[in-house]
Amino acid sequence: MRKRRLLTPGPTMLPDAAFRAMGTPFPHHRTEEFRSAMREVLGLLKEFHQTSWPIVPLTASGSGGLETAVINLLSPGEKAVAVRGGKFGERWGEICDAWGIECTPVDVEWGQSVDPAAVEKALGETPGAKVLFVTHSETSTGALHDVEALSRIAQKHGVLFVVDAITSILIHDLPVESWKVDVVVTGSQKAFMVPPGMAFLSVSPRALEAARRSKSPRYYFNLPLAVDALAKDDTPWTTAISLVLALRESLGVIRDGGGVAGSIRRHARAAAAVRGAMQAMGLRLLPERPSNALTACYAPSGIDTGVLVKRLDSDFGVRFAGGQGSLKGKIFRFGHMGYFDDLDLIGAVHALERTLEALGHKGTRGAGLRAIQDALWEGGER
Ligand SMILES: *Cc1c(COP(=O)(O)O)cnc(C)c1O
Repeated sequence: MRKRRLLTPGPTMLPDAAFRAMGTPFPHHRTEEFRSAMREVLGLLKEFHQTSWPIVPLTASGSGGLETAVINLLSPGEKAVAVRGGKFGERWGEICDAWGIECTPVDVEWGQSVDPAAVEKALGETPGAKVLFVTHSETSTGALHDVEALSRIAQKHGVLFVVDAITSILIHDLPVESWKVDVVVTGSQKAFMVPPGMAFLSVSPRALEAARRSKSPRYYFNLPLAVDALAKDDTPWTTAISLVLALRESLGVIRDGGGVAGSIRRHARAAAAVRGAMQAMGLRLLPERPSNALTACYAPSGIDTGVLVKRLDSDFGVRFAGGQGSLKGKIFRFGHMGYFDDLDLIGAVHALERTLEALGHKGTRGAGLRAIQDALWEGGER
């Protein structure tokens, strides 16, 4: 018998109430009953983004949200700068390429966090750049970038500042309005604890103005259209009704657990405990300045993490993610985001120790387990 424990950096596991919300007959989306659910969801999202600016719900995975930001703020032929230090950092440039937007990358070694001075230099060398893109928590490497510092640089250079916060919202502090982040993109299947299928964009007044002026061809992913509909408590298209109803439950769980501050604390505590356990097992962490959403770790030499991830799943029902791109086979990623508890983390470390030993890595039995148990025991309130 195996229980499924999804400890990937997205999708995450779901609270029971979210599953239940999706398993009952739902109202039509143009009714007061549904509008009231959507209002509640968007109200909580604004609170969690620490902003009064509109938050647009989109029916798309997170990447649809990234594309929406790119094409609404920029027109073909215009220029942007993007931090590129992993799979998601690369995505900004790929979207720009697809739309004929000239994107200058600031290259960062995978696992490292960008030096704000390098971004400052790139903006200085890209006259006419209109937008700076960054991934707050780079999920492919587990590295965290300094959004607050980058925001100051973006303001100094007078460019719009857009952040992919898909694995940082509710995990790291991101006061959207006081840090003047023009667009923040988030997604349903990470810390929001609902299935994949929705993306959200918080939109500053400056960003909305730019979106109204953009000459990019748009039909579905039209930000001004969505913001105007929102003012009438509406969405331009049929929204993902069942996900919104699930979200109302999941966000309620987060609110009841202490809101933004409680969520940030919980993720920090779990991340510190997991990192300590990996180090106690003699494993090397990839990022220098790690995100609290996940722990990215090199496997012991001779062990292919593709095999490790499969084995953990088939033997224990514990699902981690492997490496992407040049890190494929070399690292595994242990997600501790959203709906997890201490016993999930302890169980996963136990499963990892047993699987590593089965794959030939001997001699550390119990070291990780002891470390995570001690850290969680002493790490204060859950
Ligand atoms: C998960 C994730 C995305 C979204 O990817 P989709 O597969 O389109 O949902 C984007 N950026 C980051 C940093 C992510 O972790």
